[in-house]
Amino acid sequence: MKLKVLGSVSPFAHCNSACPSYLIKSGKTRILLDCGSGSHRFFDMQADLDGLIVIISHLHKDHYNDLFNYLYTSFAFHNLGLISNKIQIYLPNCPKDIVNTIVNEKNCFADFHIYNESTIINIENTQISFCEIKHSKDVINFASKIECRGNSIVYSGDVSFVDCDKLSQFASKSDLLICESSLLVDHNFPEICNHLTAKQAGIIAKNAKVKKLLLTHFWPDEDLTKYVNEACQEFDNVVLAKENLELETEHKYVKDLGL
Ligand SMILES: [Zn+2]
Ligand SMILES: [Zn+2]
Repeated sequence: MKLKVLGSVSPFAHCNSACPSYLIKSGKTRILLDCGSGSHRFFDMQADLDGLIVIISHLHKDHYNDLFNYLYTSFAFHNLGLISNKIQIYLPNCPKDIVNTIVNEKNCFADFHIYNESTIINIENTQISFCEIKHSKDVINFASKIECRGNSIVYSGDVSFVDCDKLSQFASKSDLLICESSLLVDHNFPEICNHLTAKQAGIIAKNAKVKKLLLTHFWPDEDLTKYVNEACQEFDNVVLAKENLELETEHKYVKDLGL
């Protein structure tokens, strides 16, 4: 599987960065994990939109704001004969008003699915499964696991450390954990809040015994070396997410393809 980072910051996109989004290519399958503000600029609509699977971890705008760009492009591309397979949109079931707004969109060439912890998506040789992980009271957040030919990538969505053990178990021995680390210890938030520090992401990666940790969901103007330094106190194979960064899982390890 190949992973491309399309967005790594929150709550707003700026210059050459965008809000959370990650594209996984597995054979002919294209899986988009979240599509935060500005992230569609790093996606190749002509090459990768046909039959695209879009999974929204939770319905906060920094994770789904660009969904309507994909929906409208699917409508236009279908009308032009450029794509023949509907895009497949997977959403949590709340907040209801946001779900209704999305699924009632008319100008699209898409199927909409509500998913939960028991949902399994099988396509080609790839399987996607889910685990509900606490984040904030107004939404339901799911971590997702993508497995193909013995390799696995887990994406956390947004996380409260209260569910650290649940996320560690779900991510156990995966090749790559894409984990939010919105905060630094220096930010002085309570240990249990709506987001993780980089140190907490490192603890989860260590407990899960993953091969590699990809930190993401950074505050836009924060010094990124602080995140990697903090996570490396707990876990030694840490990479910082950056737009256009590509990683590949292969033969049970993850290699950097460079920027
Ligand atoms: Zn969130
Ligand atoms: Zn977020």
